[in-house]
Formats: sequence, C-alpha cells, structure tokens
Amino acid sequence: MTGPVLVVAEARGPRLSEGSREAGAVGRQLAGADPTVAVALGASSASLAPELGKLGIGRLYVADGVPDEYPAAAAVGVVAAAEAAHASVIVLAGTSWGRDLTGRVAVRWKAAAASGVTQVVRDGSGLHVRRPLFGGRATETRTLGGDRAVIALRPHAFSPATDAPVEPSVETLSGLAVPPVLLAPHRNSVEPIGSGAGPALGDASIVVSGGRGVRTPENFRLVEDLAASLGAAVGASRAVTDAGWRPTSFQVGQTGKAVSPQLYIAVGISGAIQHIVGMVSSRVIVAINSDASAPIFKVADYGIVGDLFQIVPALTAEVRRVRGSG
Ligand SMILES: Cc1cc2nc3c(=O)[nH]c(=O)nc-3n(C[C@H](O)[C@H](O)[C@H](O)COP(=O)(O)OP(=O)(O)OC[C@H]3O[C@@H](n4cnc5c(N)ncnc54)[C@H](O)[C@@H]3O)c2cc1C
Repeated sequence: MTGPVLVVAEARGPRLSEGSREAGAVGRQLAGADPTVAVALGASSASLAPELGKLGIGRLYVADGVPDEYPAAAAVGVVAAAEAAHASVIVLAGTSWGRDLTGRVAVRWKAAAASGVTQVVRDGSGLHVRRPLFGGRATETRTLGGDRAVIALRPHAFSPATDAPVEPSVETLSGLAVPPVLLAPHRNSVEPIGSGAGPALGDASIVVSGGRGVRTPENFRLVEDLAASLGAAVGASRAVTDAGWRPTSFQVGQTGKAVSPQLYIAVGISGAIQHIVGMVSSRVIVAINSDASAPIFKVADYGIVGDLFQIVPALTAEVRRVRGSG
C-alpha cells in the first residue's frame, strides 16, 4: 500500500486537538516519502493551517460548507479530501468524534477500517495494526488489506507530532454535495454534564479517580483537589456514581468510560474487574489503598498502601508546592 496519507484535523476551539497532533505524527510516519496532507471541517478549519504546518503537514484541504458537528455529514468532506489527495490511508484521532467518523468514512470511501489502534505499520501488503480488545485483556493484530484503509488511534497511544515546520498550502474544496438527510438532525443545545472543571475524562492525559474508600460525597473533594493540582480529569468507580456522590458521567469501567491516560491514579478503589477493564490500558497506574491485598495493586505500576485521608492531602500539597501553585 503506497500513496499519500490524509490526517483528519479536529479543532478544540481555534486550536488543533491533542489527538490530532498524535494523528499527525502517525500520518507522517506512515507516509514515509509520500506526502502527508490534512483535512479540516467546520468553522475553525482554516485557522488550523499554521499549526499543521508546524507539524510538517504541507497541505490542508478545507471542506467548504461541511459542518463538523455531524459525523455523517463530515464524512462527505473527509472523503472528498481523500479523493483530491489520492490518499491511500486516512488517520483520525481516537476521540468520540473520530471513532464515530471512522466507520462512516470507511463505508463511503469503500475502505477497510480499525479503531482503537495502538501500533501501525504500512508495507506492500497493507496496513498492519495492533489494538487492545475485551477491555485490554487481549491484543489483536490485524491486516487491513486492499489499497485503502481508515484508522482511528487509541488516545495517548502515540506521541504527538513534533515540530518540523513547513509552509502549508490551503486548498478549498467547494461545491460538496452533502445530502440534506445528513444535516436533518439539528442540535438545539449542548449542556456539559459533570463538574465542567478540568479536561474531559476521555481525552485527559492524567485521570484521578475516587472510590467508596473516600466514604462520603464531601470527602470526594480530596480526589478533585488532587486532580486540580495536576490539571487532571476526575473519574470515579461505580460505587461512587451509584451512591449519587458524583454524576454517572464520572464513571470509569465496563459500564462507564474507557480511559487510557498517561497517568491514572486510583484513590480508595478496590479494583473490581468491571473497573479495571476501563482503565487498565493507562500508561502508568498508581493505586492508593489501605488494603495491601486489594486487586487494584495487581494492575498498578506504583502502589501506596495507606490511609487516603493522610496520603491524598499530602500529595496534593506537594504537587502544588512543586508546581508553585500555592
Ligand atoms: C454489570 C456490572 C457492571 C459494573 N460496571 C462498573 C463500572 O463500569 N465501573 C466500576 O467502577 N464498577 C462497576 N461495577 C461495580 C464493581 O463490581 C465494584 O462494585 C465497584 O467498582 C467497587 O467500587 P469501589 O472500588 O469504589 O468500592 P469498594 O469495592 O468498596 O472498594 C473501596 C476500597 O477503598 C479502600 N479503602 C477504604 N478506606 C480507605 C482509606 N481510608 N484509605 C485508602 N483506601 C481505603 C478499601 O480497601 C477498598 O479496597 C459493575 C458491576 C457490575 C455487576
């Protein structure tokens, strides 16, 4: 499989998302001597050009009039850019938007697809990907044969693209026909669920989660303070969300969110399998628990056996001291 690689650039406000920087790095690695190009959709699309140029992506396609908020419609713009670039591979970030778009683009572009990718190599026989399955209890190796493939990356599985500045050209794809049915479901409003503070749980590079060990909803503030000191997202076990201490949007695990941050800190969480499957692919896991035989320590890289009511405030104070944030 040869030919240019198309990176789908996702905006966070006026800036490129962290996941798209990771997709940019993978795109450049897969492209080798072939060009790496990008496509951006929605209101912020053209503003992403300088950032993409800094990452070594020399051409940006802007899909004129294609909104980014509906993945079904966005797929029209992505496929138009892939055709214009004569791409053989499309790389997307592992955000919920990217994962949603992956299947739609693959069907429209008649390509093989995989999401949750943690390793990828391209050679003459296709794209060879690895990805965790069954909540991290197995790893699949799969070859996407044929001459076209679409992949969505697992968040934080790859390092973001480093600076390799080029002057990007911007090409507008106009007159794209988005079937009206794809634009039919109007979004009336977006209301964030949860505390609203800190990064989103699914995208965060650090997550601090609390469990029943914190004992009361008021004490959960200890977990949130530690998270705030680290610039982390806050998660919780189901014991916490079932008790109504925090909203279900905080829940990590089988029936909650799957996260794979660089650092996951579990505070007063026993490590039931239903929790483990949602966080076991985190790069570094730290567990704080007073019971040395708690199952969470089997998956932890660093374990602190002790009373969270002593350890967590001390940790928060130390992080604040080191970071000079009071
Ligand atoms: C179908 C199904 C789906 C489920 N889905 C999920 C899911 O998505 N996510 C999820 O999390 N759970 C899920 N569960 C529930 C799961 O089985 C556990 O019940 C839950 O994860 C336990 O939460 P916990 O670890 O906070 O509580 P516990 O198991 O009660 O653990 C509390 C821990 O805190 C420690 N502790 C207590 N006091 C202190 C202290 N002072 N200092 C330090 N440590 C202390 C204890 O030693 C203990 O290990 C699911 C269950 C089912 C049946």
